[in-house]
Amino acid sequence: MSEPPLHRDTDLVLSVEDVSKSFDGFKAISDLTFYLGEGELRTIIGPNGAGKSTFMDLITGRTRPDTGSLKLHLPDGHDVDLTKFPEYRINRLGLARKFQTPSVYTEHSVHDNLLLSLPRARSLFSTVFYRQSTADREAIEEALETVRLQDHRDEIAGNLSHGQKQWLEIGMLLAQKPSVLLVDEPAAGMSDDETHRTGELLISLAGRHSLIVIEHDMTFVRQIARDGKVTVLHQGSVLCEGHFDEVQNNAKVREVYLGRGKAA
Ligand code: ADP
Ligand code: MG
Repeated sequence: MSEPPLHRDTDLVLSVEDVSKSFDGFKAISDLTFYLGEGELRTIIGPNGAGKSTFMDLITGRTRPDTGSLKLHLPDGHDVDLTKFPEYRINRLGLARKFQTPSVYTEHSVHDNLLLSLPRARSLFSTVFYRQSTADREAIEEALETVRLQDHRDEIAGNLSHGQKQWLEIGMLLAQKPSVLLVDEPAAGMSDDETHRTGELLISLAGRHSLIVIEHDMTFVRQIARDGKVTVLHQGSVLCEGHFDEVQNNAKVREVYLGRGKAA
C-alpha cells in the first residue's frame, strides 16, 4: 500500500529503517522499514516464517542487523542507537518483551512476582536489607490493578490459569514502566474469554504505553486493531500496512494467506 503512515503527525518512539538480516545466506529480514508512534498499539501479522520473531529479536538486541538502523526515541528527546547496546541494556532503556510462554516464578505469590520484576527489589528481595519503598509499592499496586489480579495477590502463581499467568507476566513488565512493550502471540493457548480480556487489557494500555503485538488469531487482531494499524510482514518485508479492514481486503495479503485460512 502506498498511503503515508497513519501516525506521521504524532511523535515516534521507535524507528527501524532499511534493516536486513541474513542467516546462512537466507534473508530473514529484507530492507524492513517500520515506525511506531508514541502510545500506539500496533499489531503485526504474517504467515509462518515471515520474520515476525526475528523482527522482535532485532529490536530487543537479541539479534544484530547486517545493515540498517534501529532507533529508540526517548521521552527526553534523545535517540538511542539500538545496534550499539546489549540486550539487557536495551531492556533497561525501556524495551520490554513478553515471550510466548509465560515465565513467572511459580512458587511465589502474585504480589512477590511483581516485586521480583522490579530491578532494585530483585537484587535485595532475599536479603535482610530489603524494605519496600513507596515507589515500589505503588508500581506493584498499579500493575495489579491494570492486569486485574488484585483479588489474587496472595495466590501462588503456579496455581493461576494460563491466561492469568500471561496477565501476571504483562504486569511484571508494566511494573518496570517500559516505553515500548513487545508481546508475542499473547492469545495462544487461551480460552475465548481469556483472549477477549487480554484484548481489553492491551487496548487499555495503548496511550500510556507504546505496544507491538504479534498475533495469529484474526478475531483477536480485529478486536485489538479496532482503532490502530496492522502491519503485514511477508518474506522479511512490510507487505502492507493500514487499518484492519484495508489489510483484510488487500489482494496481496489475501494471496500470501491463501490456503492457510488465517486472514479473514
Ligand atoms: P515468524 O516469527 O514470522 O514465523 P521467524 O522470524 O521466526 O518468522 O523466521 C523467519 C525466517 O528466518 C524463517 O525462515 C526462519 O527459519 C529463519 N530464521 C530465524 N531465526 C534463525 C536463526 N537463528 N538461524 C537460521 N534461520 C533463522
Ligand atoms: Mg515467530
